[in-house]
Amino acid sequence: MLWDVDNTLLHAAGTGRALYQIVLAELYGVDLPVPFTSMAGRTDASIALEMLTAAGLDAATELPRFHQRLAERAPQLADMMRQHGSELPGARAALAAVAGRGADGTVVQSLLTGNLPALAEVKVGALGLTEHLDLSVGAYGDASRVRAELVPIARRHAAARYGADFAGRATVLIGDTPHDVTAASATGARAVGVATGDFSVQQLAHAGADVVLANLADTDAVVAAILDGA
Ligand SMILES: [Mg+2]
Repeated sequence: MLWDVDNTLLHAAGTGRALYQIVLAELYGVDLPVPFTSMAGRTDASIALEMLTAAGLDAATELPRFHQRLAERAPQLADMMRQHGSELPGARAALAAVAGRGADGTVVQSLLTGNLPALAEVKVGALGLTEHLDLSVGAYGDASRVRAELVPIARRHAAARYGADFAGRATVLIGDTPHDVTAASATGARAVGVATGDFSVQQLAHAGADVVLANLADTDAVVAAILDGA
């Protein structure tokens, strides 16, 4: 069970953007390129490459150093996240309910997100949403520019740690963008869409989601969508 972060579990209120701004200024003395294309559903590797290129830098060469600095600075965003970020209604209850259904250890919950690990961690950590998540088996936006390529990474991590097979529809992705949905369908996983971001129920259904929820508010519906359609 792999959760997307932004606009699925929480609103980060510009925390990611602020982090990029800090590091771009620190390393290169430049501002965030404006206007910048949407970050929604994209991986940090993809966003960083575009940003560095827009700033006139050799993106491929700079990427490792840029990522490292983003990771170093991410914990500093915890206060901003606590003050301005917010969990989405039902997110906390859904995490607990899914964990309850998997009390025998059959359900592993982690993240599949375009965020760098440190950024994902500060977002969910600052809001206290990590209790039922095993962040060590997730897949994060530093691993690939392509979201679908994160799915096998998470499966490998989970299989190694839990000694179970998470092939095919044993893996469920839940997220708010067509990128989340197509990452799941491209890798044989189940896709649960949740229309709490920039995309409607219809758009997520059209992208191929197995189930689409308007939001996470109805815990029973969330648990059923995640666990009962496998
Ligand atoms: Mg999202």
